Amino acid sequence: MAAPRGWLGTVEAEGISGRQGSSGVEVVFPSDPATPAPLCPHGPTLLFVKVNQGKEETRRFYACSACRDRKDCNFFQWEDEKLSGARLAAREAHNQKCQPPLSRTQCVERYVKFIELSLSQRKFCQGCQQLLLPDDWEKHQEHRVVGDISITQLKRPSQLLYPLENKKTNAQYLFTDRSCQFLVDLLSTLGFTRVLCVGTPRLHELIRLKASGEKKSNIKSLLLDIDFRYSQFYMEDSFCHYNMFNHHFFDGKAALEVCRTFLQEDKGEGVIMVTDPPFGGLVEPLAVTFKKLIAMWKEGQSQDNSQKELPIFWIFPYFFEFRIRQFFPSFCMLDYQVDYDNHALYKHGKTGRKQSPVRIFTNIPPNKIILPSEEGYRFCPLCQRYVSLENQHCEHCNSCTSKDGRKWNHCFLCKKCVKPSWIHCSICSHCALPDHSCGAPKDGCFICGELDHKRSTCPKIATSKKVNKAVRKQKQRKSNKMKMGTTKGQSMNHTSVTRKKSRRERAHQYLCS
Ligand code: SAH
Ligand code: ZN
Ligand code: ZN
Ligand code: ZN
Ligand code: ZN
Repeated sequence: MAAPRGWLGTVEAEGISGRQGSSGVEVVFPSDPATPAPLCPHGPTLLFVKVNQGKEETRRFYACSACRDRKDCNFFQWEDEKLSGARLAAREAHNQKCQPPLSRTQCVERYVKFIELSLSQRKFCQGCQQLLLPDDWEKHQEHRVVGDISITQLKRPSQLLYPLENKKTNAQYLFTDRSCQFLVDLLSTLGFTRVLCVGTPRLHELIRLKASGEKKSNIKSLLLDIDFRYSQFYMEDSFCHYNMFNHHFFDGKAALEVCRTFLQEDKGEGVIMVTDPPFGGLVEPLAVTFKKLIAMWKEGQSQDNSQKELPIFWIFPYFFEFRIRQFFPSFCMLDYQVDYDNHALYKHGKTGRKQSPVRIFTNIPPNKIILPSEEGYRFCPLCQRYVSLENQHCEHCNSCTSKDGRKWNHCFLCKKCVKPSWIHCSICSHCALPDHSCGAPKDGCFICGELDHKRSTCPKIATSKKVNKAVRKQKQRKSNKMKMGTTKGQSMNHTSVTRKKSRRERAHQYLCS
């Protein structure tokens, strides 16, 4: 989950006024793409379209699928742009240059050598985030190097490596022990024997730790992640360098086959996919990728199993429920609150801990998923699922309606349960925060207009910012060209400039409020 897990704290910052219309950027998946998407260092790019006030702009463009900040990958190309041979060659060279310095096989060879070293020879460079072999020592002399790396430490790379918190790309937020243990125990209770971990390095490592522990658990795990640092710690059959926004395997066919074999083993029996993607990314490309992984699993199924689904845990904030269910209608959202280590506000049990908005979406029947009673979860026989302590069954809605863990109240006028902080407004004839401004556009998202989140938590925010910047830069280049070549070109329309500016200011004000 990438984006702004940092925004977690603003989830409840309800109330915004002055939404002017919806704008943002959407991914397009042409049903019959005329040309394959151009490549950036992160594999095939995605085709985007800018949406302004609900209207699509006609010129579409390609941008990086994985990085939502131009600082991390500045790929930009108009859909109809023709590149010269020289530029294509330069791009190809750039893509090559950006690949990791070592091949997957070289990493494995180094790892094998490393574990054969004596304890005192096993060093790790914190600066370079790299395990060092004796030949490397000299080069890292001036760096921060730690020694005596134990086998136990090698088995917990997520503790040795620092988390890549960069919200616009990796957004690496690691599970707390509590959440990770809960997941591993659950997977084992449900009888799974193989777990495809997509962007869940800490879960991967805990599963493997348990499998090698005393009470052998016999669960196998394969990690797919874009964080190449992990390739130092795993053999080819347990880690693939992978981009989940375009289903790209950085090490080509061999890696794809590792994944296929894993999914299809035992005719596809006993396997589950668990994923915790950056949630600054868009839901649709993720859904497209997961459907490709599902298809890969399906190929290994016998005909009579054709209606069976690949079991999935998709860990994501609750306000994406609508989006996820658009792509996976069979998924339901569990009440369990997943929390993270490197997110101060969400450490479980601390006083003042806000409730984490992150949940598990799954196609496994929720009555099979027992949530820990020590943490207050209980079974609702009417809903046939475990719900959180304060989530009360509403007899009018006939369901346990709370989404955020707080007790919601039923409003008879709205005919549904609403957040406890809302009251019914007779002017607006719906429930809202007491201090909302009546008659204003509904307090929805500034970018996409949806009512269940704000601009800062919009699934489209990251790309929209990045792309706006890209488009602005492109326009700037063009206008510079025009200025240099004098004449022609439209004169700047003054009113539109001030309108744009004040809109940006409003957005800024909103973000900072
Ligand atoms: N809670 C999980 C980590 C989730 S953080 C755990 O503790 O195991 C998101 C993870 O997704 C990170 O490991 C990050 O490296 C990975 N990731 C981010 N962007 C990705 C992409 N485009 N493709 C594949 N993995 C990605
Ligand atoms: Zn890229
Ligand atoms: Zn209920
Ligand atoms: Zn109700
Ligand atoms: Zn109401």
